Amino acid sequence: MDNTMGYQEIIQQLEFFRDIGIESVSLRREETTSLPTEAAPPPASDTLEAIRADIGDCQRCKLAPTRTTIVFGSGNPNAEIVFVGEAPGYEEDQQGLPFVGEAGRLLTKIIESTGIQREDAYICNILKCRPPSNRNPEPDEVLVCSPFLKRQIASIRPKIVCCLGKFAAQTMLQSGAPISKLRGEFHDIDGMRVIATFHPAYLLRSPEKKREVWEDMKQIRAELFRLRF
Ligand code: URA
Repeated sequence: MDNTMGYQEIIQQLEFFRDIGIESVSLRREETTSLPTEAAPPPASDTLEAIRADIGDCQRCKLAPTRTTIVFGSGNPNAEIVFVGEAPGYEEDQQGLPFVGEAGRLLTKIIESTGIQREDAYICNILKCRPPSNRNPEPDEVLVCSPFLKRQIASIRPKIVCCLGKFAAQTMLQSGAPISKLRGEFHDIDGMRVIATFHPAYLLRSPEKKREVWEDMKQIRAELFRLRF
């Protein structure tokens, strides 16, 4: 039997520890990771500027010492659609903007296939800081950072949220299922239509998956059209 905890289970376990007042857990004998404190409840009318100000020069997780720039997000604060990626890579960390590398250029084409321009959408990530060597986000990092993403989305109030890849999909849909199972259908969350698709960086490695992404984008295009009328 596989006793490995799933990603969502680890997050739930860490949240449970926090809720019962445990402030740190020992990961290895010599190492301690601080657990995040509960994010302050957002003000009634939250703005992207206020959220960015709350993030400040964030030192809340272990990514702070190795990042160059906090990558908050970019695009239209009143966007109909928000695209959520995983975490900044090298280029994003240097420039302070999401999806500006090779995967970002592919994302621009993907966005445009829905009939909207990149600058009319809003683009952000689950994590605002680059993990060293672009490793996967870790549960404690997602736990600390995702409340800011949730506030960004609540402030923008898009019609549709498109999750790019496993980490965005599992975090937004609160699921441990693989991206191949989560993609391709809408879920209703907090009055928004949430859909997942493959991450553009994955498409660069597995171009044969582009066809499924175009199918997902066709669904988004149709849904945007439906929701406008
Ligand atoms: N990959 C991501 O998930 N986000 C970025 O901003 C860039 C690459």
